[in-house]
Amino acid sequence: MKSIDRRTALQAGAALAATTLAACATSEPREPKVVATDANVLFKVPQPFVPIVGSPVVFPVRRIYCIGRNYAAHAREMGSDPTREPPFFFQKPSDAVQFVPIGKTVDHAYPSLTKNYHYELELVAVLATGGRDIPRERALDCVFGYAVGLDMTRRDLQNAMKKEEKPWEIGKSFDHAAPIGPIHPVGQVGHFTKGAIVLKVNGVVKQSADLSQMIWSVAEQIANLSQAFELLPGDIIYSGTPENVGPVVRGDVMLGHIDGLPDISVKVV
Ligand code: MN
Repeated sequence: MKSIDRRTALQAGAALAATTLAACATSEPREPKVVATDANVLFKVPQPFVPIVGSPVVFPVRRIYCIGRNYAAHAREMGSDPTREPPFFFQKPSDAVQFVPIGKTVDHAYPSLTKNYHYELELVAVLATGGRDIPRERALDCVFGYAVGLDMTRRDLQNAMKKEEKPWEIGKSFDHAAPIGPIHPVGQVGHFTKGAIVLKVNGVVKQSADLSQMIWSVAEQIANLSQAFELLPGDIIYSGTPENVGPVVRGDVMLGHIDGLPDISVKVV
């Protein structure tokens, strides 16, 4: 009786061990899969989006990527050598987008903590497809359209963090840090490899350059980004600002112009 019990116990133990090993060996979830639906989410989080010009359809924003120092003269004014630097990117949160409709001046709140708030006018490429390790030759196939955008920057905070070799996220990734005009589909406006990019503040030209002066083209940016991240529909890319970035204060009106797209107008309040 005693030996049978022992044998039974050993068999049970072996069976349990086998089951455990089997469970470890498989990647099958042990709990039923949970899916977020309208019925079970704790609360709703709004999906950031940008309107598409002339369409009731809107473009949902997944990630905002931004390239740094992509015009040689701007790289120099930021204290780096444009001839030696590979491209680098940072992100802003997707809900940093602030839509700027055409023909209107929108109010843009001066953010907290800064005393040196800078404009950076940029061409924005928005993606409808993505992938990993996208070859440069096929990269523009991912682009759905383009918009005029501002990569607003708390320069004093960015510089202070830089100096301390800390991440400069607080200088770049804050609420409403990414004003953007409506998206213009490639079918209507084509791709942008040249053309004037001009920012005025209160009617005075502050930034004036040409898109052809980008160090890394939009296609190269997509190819490069896709080596570090899987790009997906809804990702948007701020393609860099030319030289002569500078400060705005409350009351200033920024007018962003890129040849081939309507201007955007933003008032700092
Ligand atoms: Mn920028």
